[in-house]
Parts: sequence; structure tokens; C-alpha cells
Amino acid sequence: MTTSPLNSPAYPDTRLLIDNQWVDAADGRTLDVLNPATGQVIGRVAHAGIPDLDRALAAAQRGFETWRDTPAHERAALMRRAAALLRERAEDIARLLTMEQGKPLAEARAETLAGVSLIEWFADEGLRVYGRIVPSRNLSALQLVVKEPVGPVAAFTPWNFPINQVVRKLGAALATGCSFLCKAPEETPASPAALLQTFVDAGLPPGVVGLVYGNPAEISGYLIPHPVIRKVTFTGSTQVGKQLAALAGVHMKRVSMELGGHAPVIVAEDADVELAAKISAAGKFRNAGQVCISPTRFLVHRSLVDAFSQAFVRRAESLKLGDGLAEGTTLGPLANARRVTAISQVVEDARRRGAKILTGGERVGDAGNFFAPTVISGLTTEADLFNNEPFGPVAGIRAFDHLDEAITEANRLAYGLSAYAFTRSLGNVQQLMRRVEAGMLWINQPATPSAELPFGGVKDSGYGTEGGPEALEAYLNTKAVSAVGI
Ligand code: NAD
Repeated sequence: MTTSPLNSPAYPDTRLLIDNQWVDAADGRTLDVLNPATGQVIGRVAHAGIPDLDRALAAAQRGFETWRDTPAHERAALMRRAAALLRERAEDIARLLTMEQGKPLAEARAETLAGVSLIEWFADEGLRVYGRIVPSRNLSALQLVVKEPVGPVAAFTPWNFPINQVVRKLGAALATGCSFLCKAPEETPASPAALLQTFVDAGLPPGVVGLVYGNPAEISGYLIPHPVIRKVTFTGSTQVGKQLAALAGVHMKRVSMELGGHAPVIVAEDADVELAAKISAAGKFRNAGQVCISPTRFLVHRSLVDAFSQAFVRRAESLKLGDGLAEGTTLGPLANARRVTAISQVVEDARRRGAKILTGGERVGDAGNFFAPTVISGLTTEADLFNNEPFGPVAGIRAFDHLDEAITEANRLAYGLSAYAFTRSLGNVQQLMRRVEAGMLWINQPATPSAELPFGGVKDSGYGTEGGPEALEAYLNTKAVSAVGI
């Protein structure tokens, strides 16, 4: 295991962002922030109470009134300035992200730079929010369809991609003229704060963006029903997503839900097995498996299962586990202690059911949340790993005989976020495209969720999408106008 670097940068305390000012909570409450590589407290984050939320909501309302009347070209220019600042600061922000979240620095850097690209794409796409002219049945009537920003948005984002999960929502909201009040993760607060600072420094008017932290249930319970909020967007577990969607439903708020996944990977009889193992292992262990589109259920044709398992294990064992800031680390700690407990239970369940742990299967060391990259074969479909999103560095392999069987297994769970397949046959590709129930299907390649592609799920993985033109649609109201000249 690689050890902590000597010269870690200072980690800042994080305050609330209200009206472009960084402020403490009115009652001064804070929460500790831990470094997952050491378990040590590295900083504090302000814990908002209701009076703070009221101030943030009033600011979001004022911010909306300014921003919706700002021409799309000016909005785009400002977003591009923020993107440029994010690029300039990427190295420092990536270090904060690694210190609070654990992922290797190279991944944190890639996440930050992907954020730049997303903001730029949304800035440009905001210029193309067009309405329509509809031919009228009455020649003296002019019929228009106009698009308007939905209003102030409440966003709830998780700790696995502290920057990216904010950026996908923020980009679409700002591009369409909405204001944006975010409850970012208490466990990883400094990198989202640094992201929003780039927008403040780029000249965003006060109130257009706000950032709060605190008790997630208390904040969502207050913001979602609040009349100022017109749209709710959440990324996180299916369980919490369903609660928030239900609350939003009671208050008739627009909703986007990007929830859990349990991605199947189908390795067909005619697959390139080395390619499949290489891409799958890289995908599985990225961000220590704490990725909603992480490949998890490996369904491999029986004739390839040994070769695939060996290649996968070889790649898992070549990873260098350690502090994400240390040179050479390719697998960081899990982001919090809850994940260590959860992954230990998943592995224990597989052991109890007689599955074979091909590599890993244990926590590593006593300090920090390190867990060895784990590959398990011989699982039954009743195993916990084959049913509940593991959200950690653990892969399960099962053999199949006919493609039909693999597709049935892929669709068995209530999740439908992403799916992967490896095959050389166009016939198989077409069958997979038609039949696999997922919002995203990647064939013979890793996931490449670029800004211009829709990003979202079906079934219990949620609704709405956070990429492509559909992402902007989710922040727009459609108004029909018919005007007769007199
Ligand atoms: P969790 O389900 O309690 O929290 C997930 C996220 O939702 C956190 O960011 C949390 O702050 C937020 N949250 C929780 N309750 C909330 C509420 N009532 N209102 C608003 N926000 C709320 O648990 P966790 O231990 O942080 O994560 C557990 C599981 O969540 C993971 O195993 C994974 O399945 C899922 N998850 C998914 C994603 C994703 O990208 N889709 C990200 C993080 C976690």
C-alpha cells in the first residue's frame, strides 16, 4: 500500500454560499470532514439551519429574477469564464477532492477537467434553446411555442463525484436561466465550494448560485415543498430518491432523479476476451467502484469464463492501493467507513453461499477505509452482490450458455442505469440494443458519458437525463402563445 505524501496542502473549512458571500451558519454549527485515507479530521463544514435556508431561498428567488432576464449569450460567456477559471485551478481543486473523497489524484484531475468540458458544452447548448412557430388554423393568429426557465432549482448531490454531480445539474440550470441552490455532500464539501467559487469569480450575479450543507433530510424536507423551489434534482440511492420524488410529487414540483445502478456486463461467445477484461477491470475499480454506472454483474459465456476471470484477477492484482495523493496510487480508499462495512458484508454473504473469492475480499490496514480489489466467481443469483448495488471495488462473475439467458439476467433487477457488452457480431449488438433495459449501453468500449450524450436511467434507476439536449429540457417550461393582431 502506498503511504501518505509528506507535503499535503492545507485543507480549508467550508462555509455556506448565500448571495455570493461565504457565511457561517447563523447558529455557528459545523460538522467534521474526514480524510478517508487516514480517518483523521481535516476540516469543518458549516451546518445550515432553517434561518440559513430561508436566506438562501430568498437569494435564489432574487437570483432567478436577474438571471432569467440575462440574454443567453451573456449567460454563456459567463459560464465559459467560470470554466476557464476551473481549468486554471484544476490542480489545486483536484487535490482538495482527493483529500476529502479519497480517489487517486489523476482521477480527481480528470473529474475536474471533465467538469470544464461539461460547463462549456452546456454554455453553448444554452444558445440553442429555440421555440417554434406553429401554423395557425386562423390566419390572423400567430402561434408560438416558447421555452422558459422552470425557476429556482434545489439540487442534492452525492460524495462519489463531488464536482461532476454538481456540474451536470448546474450546467443545465444556468444555461436555461434558472437559479441553483445546491445541498452538496457534507463528507466532501470543499471541492464543490471551489467549483462554485469559479462562478462567483467569473461575475455571476448574487443569488444565482447558492450552496448549503447540513442535515440532508432536514434540508430536502424544507426546500422541496418550499414555494420558491420549482424543480428538484437528486443523485443518490434509489431508496432516498423515491422518498424525495414522492415529496416532490405531493408539491407538484418538476423532478429529475439519477439513482443507483447495478450494471450487467455481457461477454458473448465471440467477444475479444482480453479487451473485455481490460475495459471491465478499469471500469470496475475506477473511483473504487463507487460509481453509479460501475460494471458489477459479469455474465460471461461459459467457454470464456476461465480466461476472462484470470485476466480480470491479473488486472485487479496489478492495482496499487494507497492514499490518492501518493505517487503511483491507482486505487484509493473507500470514501467513508459505511462503505467498508457494506462491502465486507457483501463479501461475507458470497463466502457463506460457497462462492469463490478469486482475489481480495478483505479490508487492508487499520487506518483509513482501504479495501482490496475483489473478484468473486461461482455466485448464485440470490447472492447479495447480484442483487444490491455494492458501490465498492467488488466484481461478481457468472457463466452463461445462451445470450438469451444473459439478457434475462441483465434485466432481472429493478435497476436500469447502464449496461455493457462485448461481442464481434452485429446480430448480437442489435439484439442487445433492442432488449437490454438500461438508459446507457456501452458495447466493446468503456463508458464515455460525454456532455452531448444523454445520461440517466430507467426503472428504479430514475428518470430524466443529465446530458444531451434532453438535459436542458428538464429545466424548461413550455408555453404555448397564440396572439391575434387587432
Ligand atoms: P444515502 O443513501 O443515505 O445517501 C446518498 C446521498 O443522498 C448522500 O449524498 C446523502 O447526503 C444524500 N441523502 C441521503 N438522505 C437524504 C435526504 N433525505 N434528502 C436529501 N439527500 C439525502 O447513503 P450513502 O451511504 O451516502 O450512500 C449509500 C448508497 O447510495 C450507495 O451504496 C449507492 O448505492 C448510493 N449512491 C449513489 C450515487 C449515485 O451516483 N447514483 C452516489 C452516492 C451514493
